[in-house]
Formats: sequence, structure tokens, C-alpha cells
Amino acid sequence: ESDVANSHCRAAESISKRSLHSNTEQFQFQAEVSRLMDIIIHSPYSNKDIFLWELISNASDALYQIKFIALTDKEILGEGDNTKLEILIKLDKEKRILSIRDRGIGMTKEDLIKNLGTIAKSGTSAFLEKMQTSGDLNLIGQCGVGFYSVYLVADNVEVISKHNHDKQHVWESKADGSFVVSEDTYNEPLGRGTEIRLHLREESGEYLEESKLKELVKKYLEFINFPIHLLASKE
Ligand code: ADP
Ligand code: MG
Repeated sequence: ESDVANSHCRAAESISKRSLHSNTEQFQFQAEVSRLMDIIIHSPYSNKDIFLWELISNASDALYQIKFIALTDKEILGEGDNTKLEILIKLDKEKRILSIRDRGIGMTKEDLIKNLGTIAKSGTSAFLEKMQTSGDLNLIGQCGVGFYSVYLVADNVEVISKHNHDKQHVWESKADGSFVVSEDTYNEPLGRGTEIRLHLREESGEYLEESKLKELVKKYLEFINFPIHLLASKE
């Protein structure tokens, strides 16, 4: 019991918050998460494809959650596009942005802060240890920190999310030890769910190629029980 209380205290301490202006708050990543991101961003690892699998499996998890609640509460799905339990992958070649969008459960502001940065999962240190001995980045998903693999290919990441119990918020980080969260008053309303926007690094241009994404999606479809649509920007 004291262990739980202890880890809770440490987690609470690590949420060092700084207000920038009324709508934007800055947070420091928990120290181990920051180390993990540093390793990822400087990784010479060649198989960077795993980031897409991690994002698609997170989208699928979020869709399962809303689907499960809908078994006993149909209203939760809302109406129109909100009822479509699907994953959308969008390419914007001009802006070099790859987005992965789901109509899953979504994240509240508090979820964004806790799940993406301030509360370290037990798998974080396990992963750091395993990385040091084996150098195998493939273990990232198994250790419960798969999200951070986005920094294999992106230098800036935005997570836009809408949960039924909160307004739409944006999380953003350049993997420089901190992230910001703001109420989203500028992007298109998502209705419900999450959109991860990856601002791709110079050397990650292959993930803007439709053929490359098609090939990956085809591989993943076998394991994902929701439709995945690929939408390319007009050139
Ligand atoms: P894991 O999926 O093993 O829990 P991740 O690092 O992949 O670990 O994701 C961390 C957490 O962020 C998830 O547990 C979930 O709470 C939240 N999350 C990530 N992506 C999404 C998403 N698309 N929709 C809702 N929540 C998400
Ligand atoms: Mg995951």
C-alpha cells in the first residue's frame, strides 16, 4: 500500500507545470520518459516502420474502448461520422505531415497530461534497461511506451483529442524535455477521438509516399479489426 502511495506522490511531484498564457500550459516530461525520448530521437535504428504499427494499435485500442461502452450505452457513439469506428491515415506532402486519426474513446485534458508524459509506466525503466543491453527498439510496444516511437520519424508531434467528457485539446512536443497542452480553439472539431499529427523529419520522407503506407497498412490490416482508410493530399 505504501508503495502505491509513494509512486503516486512521485508522480504528482513530477507534474511541474508552468502557465504560458491563459490557454496554454507547459509540462515537463517525467525524467525517465525524457531519457527514453532522447534515446529514440537519436536512434540510428533503421527499421523505423514500427511507429505506424504503434499508432494504429493505439487507435484500435481506443476504438475497442468506445465499442465496449456502446454495448450497454448506444447513445455514446453519437451520430453521423462519430458512429464510424474507423482509422484514417492522411498525407499532406506539401506540409510534410502524416496524420493518424481514430474515432475512438479520445482523451480528456487530464488524460493527455498523464498518459503522454507525466506519469511514467513501469515499462519505461524496463525498456531503457533492455535498450542498453540489446539495443532492440522493437521491444518498445511490449514495454507500454510505444507512443514515443513517433519521434523516430518526427521532430514535432501534435496530438489533438476529443473525449465525450471534455472539450477538444491539443498536446504538442518537440521532444525537448517538455510538452504543452492547450484547449483547441483553432483545429477542425474531431467530434470524438484522436488525431496524431507527425511533422516528419527531413530524412523520413518515405512516409509521405502512398505506396510505402499502402504496403505497411496492408500488413497491419490482418491484425486490426477496424477499417483503415488512406487519404492522400492532392498534388
Ligand atoms: P500502451 O498503448 O501500451 O498503453 P502507448 O505508449 O502506446 O502505451 O500509449 C500510452 C497511452 O496513451 C495509452 O495507454 C492511452 O491511454 C493513450 N493513448 C495513446 N494513443 C491513444 C489514442 N489514439 N486514443 C486514446 N488514447 C490514446
Ligand atoms: Mg500502445
